[in-house]
Amino acid sequence: MIVILKQNSPQKKVSELIDKFHSMGVSTNVNLGHYDTVIALIGDTSKVDMDSILANEIVDTVKRVSEPYKAANRKFHSEDTIVEVGNAKIGEGYFNVIAGPCSVESEEQIIEVAEAVKKSGATLLRGGAFKPRTSPYSFQGLHGEGIRLLLEAKKATGLPIVTEIMGIEHIDLFADVDVIQVGARNMQNFQLLKELGKSDKPILLKRGLANTIEEFLMSAEYIMASGNNNVILCERGIRTFETIVRNTLDITAVPLLKKLSHLPIIIDPSHASGVAWLVEPLSKTAVAAGADGLIIEVHNNPECALCDGDQSLTPANFDKLMTNLKKRAEFEGKKM
Ligand code: PEP
Ligand code: MN
Repeated sequence: MIVILKQNSPQKKVSELIDKFHSMGVSTNVNLGHYDTVIALIGDTSKVDMDSILANEIVDTVKRVSEPYKAANRKFHSEDTIVEVGNAKIGEGYFNVIAGPCSVESEEQIIEVAEAVKKSGATLLRGGAFKPRTSPYSFQGLHGEGIRLLLEAKKATGLPIVTEIMGIEHIDLFADVDVIQVGARNMQNFQLLKELGKSDKPILLKRGLANTIEEFLMSAEYIMASGNNNVILCERGIRTFETIVRNTLDITAVPLLKKLSHLPIIIDPSHASGVAWLVEPLSKTAVAAGADGLIIEVHNNPECALCDGDQSLTPANFDKLMTNLKKRAEFEGKKM
């Protein structure tokens, strides 16, 4: 971090400021120029609050030169993190596909879909029990009953389950869930992130609708700073001026996040596009960009789905897609 002081700052105030930096645990390199005094802060500046420095009367400008996230930063952890869920290894070198309906609707539905996606090669089962819907009049999910049905599907197929948490008050219901999903709308629910950081369960963290890559990594940092390093990032499309598709898939996020962080990154082509026919081309793009996997919505009867039917693949289309993806993952040197 670089701190530039206002011209002619009194020496006493400069010394006080330098002492303050040292008390924060960072060392300083002071450059006395003809016009400007520039102080470089050296060491771990992730806990240094830029705004409070800027509030000091002798400070003119503060610039960060290193990222504000530490635990999620590849600079401090060069090895790729591999998150293990049951037999699945999620991270660099592997390609896992999580599949299942947007929402759990009934026992027959979830078991039928679970069996189908397992047969096609999915390694985890998804299904929403708590649904964040734009309208309060839309189907909100089966809540605790939905989780119970997911566990039935796990019993029938052996697939670990992924489901979304919307509030920390429901955490006890998630005791047997394998991966807890934090949806796009809750990416900056910091209280929720802190609580999930106290658990050792893998967390699938989705990028917010209008959040930057840095904000995304800072949310991962919240979970990790509380002690949980099992974080899987998920790019699921962002809001742009485009209206033909539900969201715009930010494919650049994949190589960028791989460079900036050691955490696994997967793509959600279903929510990124909002239409079933775009899921295949976006999935292929995800493999080529270096993603570690996908989360795809599959429904046994999309026309009758209670949520997100238009973006859901039929089991038959999912099967075709998986055959296609296997060849591509192999070409990229990933185990699928
Ligand atoms: C979901 O996965 O069902 C979901 C609601 O996703 P998102 O939070 O990305 O909108
Ligand atoms: Mn959905």
